[in-house]
Amino acid sequence: MRIAVIDYDKCQPKKCNLLCLNYCPGPRMNEETIIVDEVTKKPIISEVLCTGCGICIHKCPYKAISIVNLPEELSQPIHQYGPNTFRLYRLPIPKEGKVLGLIGQNGVGKTTAIKILSGELYPNMGDYSSKERKNLSSYFRGTELQGYFEKIEARDIKSSLKPQYVDKLSQVVKGNTADLLDKVDERGVSKELIQELGLTDALDKDISVLSGGELQRVAVIASMSKDADIYFLDEPTSYLDIKQRLNVAKSIRNLAEKKTVVVIEHDLAILDYLSDNIHILYGQPGVYGIVSTPLGVRVGINMYLDGYIKEDNVRFRDESIKFYQKEEKSLKSKKVLLEYPAFEKNYDSFSLKTEGGALHKGEVIGIVGPNATGKSTFIKILAGVLEPDNGNKFETELKVSYKPQYIKRDYDGTVRNLLAEVAKEKFFTNIYKAEILRPLEIDPIIDNLVSELSGGELQRVAIAACLSQDADLYLFDEPSAYLDIEQRLNFSKVLRRFIGDKELMAIIVEHDLVSLDYTSDKAIVFSGRPSVSGIASPPLSLRDGMNRFLKEIGITFRREPESGRPRSNKIDSQKDREQKSSGEYYYFKA
Ligand code: ADP
Ligand code: SF4
Ligand code: SF4
Repeated sequence: MRIAVIDYDKCQPKKCNLLCLNYCPGPRMNEETIIVDEVTKKPIISEVLCTGCGICIHKCPYKAISIVNLPEELSQPIHQYGPNTFRLYRLPIPKEGKVLGLIGQNGVGKTTAIKILSGELYPNMGDYSSKERKNLSSYFRGTELQGYFEKIEARDIKSSLKPQYVDKLSQVVKGNTADLLDKVDERGVSKELIQELGLTDALDKDISVLSGGELQRVAVIASMSKDADIYFLDEPTSYLDIKQRLNVAKSIRNLAEKKTVVVIEHDLAILDYLSDNIHILYGQPGVYGIVSTPLGVRVGINMYLDGYIKEDNVRFRDESIKFYQKEEKSLKSKKVLLEYPAFEKNYDSFSLKTEGGALHKGEVIGIVGPNATGKSTFIKILAGVLEPDNGNKFETELKVSYKPQYIKRDYDGTVRNLLAEVAKEKFFTNIYKAEILRPLEIDPIIDNLVSELSGGELQRVAIAACLSQDADLYLFDEPSAYLDIEQRLNFSKVLRRFIGDKELMAIIVEHDLVSLDYTSDKAIVFSGRPSVSGIASPPLSLRDGMNRFLKEIGITFRREPESGRPRSNKIDSQKDREQKSSGEYYYFKA
């Protein structure tokens, strides 16, 4: 079965003079293969008449067309937005009193699925031209979703949604945080949740001045305190540090003791910790998405890393992701490239003390710690953007390239202009394309204006720009923010290869523990009282660093034998107790 999808945001018929229509051989045999919509003046491809020759795909100057062959058994989508647009096949199956996790790249239909299950979007079964509502209970008769859709049809499901983008919250709601949370608290649980998620200090503040992490927790509490049958939480941990993420995960599990919960999450450690079952969503972003059968969490996440879904017999990624054990011995033998002294930095109400340390060739160091304990300040001192107070000025002959946490959009030009400026002649080489542009998915956005990029696109461009500089030390402050699961794994791979092959050095601030484990050889651990004081350790082995860090948080991780990835233990489980008593909070061997 052939589907044709046009990204109508990219399609610019006035500029290209309808090239696809002019080159399509279809009209010679049949006039209707591509027609022009009278209202939008944009092309519409007939999937019945299109032969799949692919000429239009290559001719379209804006890379707007995709023609894809799908297996026949997927003939009918659950929903299609319109002619030649994205379609979703199959649906996730929420289970009462359980947490269902959804995992997949951006643009494969996670939000569409959530909208359908919450009753916000009435599925059209691919029949986008008819205004008539479908009889859903007959479509789902005999399936696990029959009862669910009978309720949706009868409008008998009350759902609560935590939307993905919490930064927009301050534009929609105004006023004092405590008042807002009080107003939406239908279940009388907000006080307890405020305690659990550590939001007490933000209660007196106006919503407009809250940080990203505070807004996230406000949104999570607000959605959980509604009285609903089913709760949908779209990326509930972005902007949060590891401890805050785990607290949110615990609260979600508590909620699921009485309610049904569906969570979209890109942090694999958190997804693993909070879900009972997961569905993998795969396909081609913006073109089509397929929901896998329900999978157990361990098996499902392993399949995701492997890139192969056994049940559907589908390989959706060429390479599988394996977590290998880093040999601490081999690192010790590497040459020291940089030594830095102990620093101090004091502001009116915050002080930071860091121990000195050494960085070795080919090493990636992960920085872990709570928000507001000075991680970005430390990175800025190493980057030469800030000066320390104690006279121990940090000066080095080595070149440093730095990607800040907050990236500015104020570049006047396209992504191509920006990267060509930074990478210089390298920009035109095949190695640059293979090492940087392709894996970071820059190609599709290379002619977009930097000022108009989305958060995830801007993050990828900033990462590419940082790696394009000729440097010895590369610093990344929260590179996984705004990135989906696939992009996080891609970045980890790119960085490991880049730093390892060229024997350079990198430091990353990272809250995603699985990404951190995959990328880093060592860890610098920050601790202290958020917004008051921070202390940083020297670079420690990943094992010692994570042990130190997780001990403070009170959670243990073991290794999943198949993939080697870190998995959190359930609190008070036998493994948890054993590992705590032996001091092995972060089990190193699979
Ligand atoms: P995810 O949540 O996995 O990122 P989404 O469900 O948001 O995926 O989007 C899947 C695809 O559907 C995207 O290409 C998106 O642009 C498209 N899409 C979403 N809403 C609409 C709409 N109202 N009309 C047309 N296309 C849409
Ligand atoms: Fe026409 Fe070929 Fe494009 Fe189909 S794939 S619309 S037949 S040019
Ligand atoms: Fe032009 Fe491409 Fe749009 Fe066709 S799909 S009108 S070639 S921009």
